[in-house]
Amino acid sequence: MTSALMPTYARAAQSFARGEGAWLIDRDGRRFLDFAAGIAVCALGHAHPRLVEALTEQAGRLWHCSNLFEVPEQEAVAARLVAASFADVVFFGNSGAEANECAIKLARRHHAMAGRPERWRILAFEGSFHGRTLGTLAAAGNPKNLLGFGPPVSGFDQVAFGDLAAAAARIGPETAAILVEPIQGDGGIRVPPPGYLQGLRDLADRHGILLMFDEIQTGIGRTGRMFAYQQAGVVPDVMALAKGLGGGFPVGACLATARAAAGMTAGSHASTFGGNLLAMSVAAAVLDTVGTTDFLAEVERRGARLAAGLDELVARHGAVFEARRGTGLMQGLRCRGDQPGMVARLRAHGLIVAPAQDNVIRLLPPLIVGPAEIDAALAMLDRAAATG
Ligand SMILES: *Cc1c(COP(=O)(O)O)cnc(C)c1O
Repeated sequence: MTSALMPTYARAAQSFARGEGAWLIDRDGRRFLDFAAGIAVCALGHAHPRLVEALTEQAGRLWHCSNLFEVPEQEAVAARLVAASFADVVFFGNSGAEANECAIKLARRHHAMAGRPERWRILAFEGSFHGRTLGTLAAAGNPKNLLGFGPPVSGFDQVAFGDLAAAAARIGPETAAILVEPIQGDGGIRVPPPGYLQGLRDLADRHGILLMFDEIQTGIGRTGRMFAYQQAGVVPDVMALAKGLGGGFPVGACLATARAAAGMTAGSHASTFGGNLLAMSVAAAVLDTVGTTDFLAEVERRGARLAAGLDELVARHGAVFEARRGTGLMQGLRCRGDQPGMVARLRAHGLIVAPAQDNVIRLLPPLIVGPAEIDAALAMLDRAAATG
């Protein structure tokens, strides 16, 4: 079939007409359990009444108003994020890549405006993913994603993820910040060794540089805590959010301490759509829902149920699945055989999952997923593994 879209995606021959909670329904009425959730985006599942109400209510009032004016709805969401985290200030963009771009610019500007313009390089990690802009591609340094786009943006150094000595050795007089995913998502749900993030915090403190967490995938309840940094007990200076924050509506945010963000003065950064009122209405409803102790405790319980079931699957189908890794409702299964084949086979059994690097399939259900739905997904995985 010819398409008017640029063929940048290897799309599955499958489309959906609507969604209900953790379920996607295709045009023929077939139901699929959605354990990809738009790649960790639909935090409250599909068509959540609270989000639908928030969005439609705002849609009848005002959609967009430029950042030439005060936007109280932005102030309100920023205040919620600040109250829920280490941060003092927030910049809103529209995507994960933009949230990271803000973090990168903030780090360079932090040092430049304090009389240290020579500190402009960012230390990042092999296997990471930070987005598809020229800057964030250079940060991740994945050769496959950089191919054919000319010389990468300069100023990024990558070292092996999980190797503290390698990170220590790579920090120099030009280093401005460390940019790291607390758990690598696209890289294959790679959890760093215990103490690693604290080690990076210590390195940042010792060298007077910023520690920046890309929590675009791990943030907003995914790990059973509001943010993965809270689970790790390591507080960054800067944090990028997107994905779950809008529950499916495009929004990104860069959070920072006032000290880290000191260089971000008027005129230093901007976004036409950033902090759009529709996005803010949904983000406020997401934060109100996810940000309660009860909700997060439930995510933790559901995550433990999923993890235990996956561990059983790995034990039963050792020839198909090599290992489980992850935390909360951010789980990965490393496949021994053909991972794309497994993703397709699972879909045939009625389960949607997301592929990742390192031969891993990601299980990222909406945070509202119920225990019966987790059990149903595990049964589908069991059948798909048993049928080869
Ligand atoms: C998805 C993702 C991004 C990029 O987000 P976009 O909205 O696609 O730009 C960046 N970092 C991490 C960790 C992600 O998971």
